[in-house]
Amino acid sequence: MVDRANFPSDVPSTHFVWPHGLSYLNRWGLLKQVLATTPSHTVLNVVQDGIELSGTVPLHLLREHFRELHGDDSGVVQRYASVRRRVLDKILLDAAADAGAQVRTGFVVEELIQDKGRVVGIRGKTQDGRSVEERARVVVGADGRNSSVARALGLRKHDVRHKCTFAYWGYYSGFTLPSAYMYQRGRLGVAAAPTNFGQNMLLVWGPRELAEEFRVDLAGNFEQALDLVSPELGKRVRAQGKREGRLFATLDQSAYLRPLFGQGWVLAGDAQCFKDQCTAIGMTHAFRDAELLAAGLDDWLSGDSAFDVALKHYESCLRGPAATAYYDYVCAQAEMRALDHDELQFLSGLRDDQQQTDHFIAMHGGIAIHSTR
Ligand SMILES: Cc1cc2nc3c(=O)[nH]c(=O)nc-3n(C[C@H](O)[C@H](O)[C@H](O)COP(=O)(O)OP(=O)(O)OC[C@H]3O[C@@H](n4cnc5c(N)ncnc54)[C@H](O)[C@@H]3O)c2cc1C
Repeated sequence: MVDRANFPSDVPSTHFVWPHGLSYLNRWGLLKQVLATTPSHTVLNVVQDGIELSGTVPLHLLREHFRELHGDDSGVVQRYASVRRRVLDKILLDAAADAGAQVRTGFVVEELIQDKGRVVGIRGKTQDGRSVEERARVVVGADGRNSSVARALGLRKHDVRHKCTFAYWGYYSGFTLPSAYMYQRGRLGVAAAPTNFGQNMLLVWGPRELAEEFRVDLAGNFEQALDLVSPELGKRVRAQGKREGRLFATLDQSAYLRPLFGQGWVLAGDAQCFKDQCTAIGMTHAFRDAELLAAGLDDWLSGDSAFDVALKHYESCLRGPAATAYYDYVCAQAEMRALDHDELQFLSGLRDDQQQTDHFIAMHGGIAIHSTR
């Protein structure tokens, strides 16, 4: 297992994890370690134009989801947490090493070794500049949006959706948040969540076409967006908040899919599919891919099935109707269209029904949404 970064390390991303994401960490025996230094909560607040929906993903839906994807629902939890990547990635890497993987950090993959059209290994550079070749029966490209594995194979993106959000975020001390909030007012969004080191993560996003205008006065517009989207949060941040460090930015989050696997290679996580940050699902889906792929590759490596047969379930979970419907849902959300009167009436009606509210929150996280295609 190689990674060009040295850990602990951050990636340019926020880090809200849904209950299904934390359930994976629990299934892998890592949740306790994560929660030892990371605040967590059992309620998520989705606030749309002042209409507050507070709830959680119902346990029975989580269980159903895991049974459908993985054949069992052990370790399912209903918690949410926002864990800094410099905390999480180190825990994941150490766990991989403890499980027997040889982990090499500061190692950049530069090329794939191919033999008669089949990938048979990688070429790369170690931190001290040595060129190294490694042979493998399969190369897994879990190397993010700018996947070097996808580039080396010349894989094209498809179903690209250019309408997406820009996002600015930073870390604030000085006040405590009991749980996470996802706000939207008109075409602007704000997320606020407690995270590690006694800090809160505050994120502002909007339609990408407004990014240039927004960045002209970044600090001022960030504060104004907080005030506009959630006046009480804006007031609190001005009165008590202290920003720790700079604001971070992502200006392009076009969604895409890439081919999933071929001769001697397979992609996972953002390398195979990227979706806008507006529903904060990427890490949860990267965990899902890891568990599904590990099971598929195990089937193949233990000789039970041919490679493409062993990866059929992986493919159907990532490209089947439910995944496709959620891809469409996130891409539609990423357009940041202001809701019309009927939609607001609908949301306002949900407030009186906790079961429906919980179902709505589950759907926002990609659970219990069924394709109409
Ligand atoms: C602004 C923003 C906010 C987000 N907020 C959230 C959120 O709140 N919650 C959430 O769940 N998701 C969020 N996401 C999405 C999330 O960041 C990704 O979906 C997730 O990180 C994908 O994980 P991954 O392992 O596939 O890729 P990555 O996390 O990108 O990891 C890829 C790894 O590959 C390594 N690598 C890359 N190239 C090479 C190479 N050539 N050689 C060796 N190593 C290499 C990198 O060092 C890195 O460690 C957000 C994304 C953005 C842009």
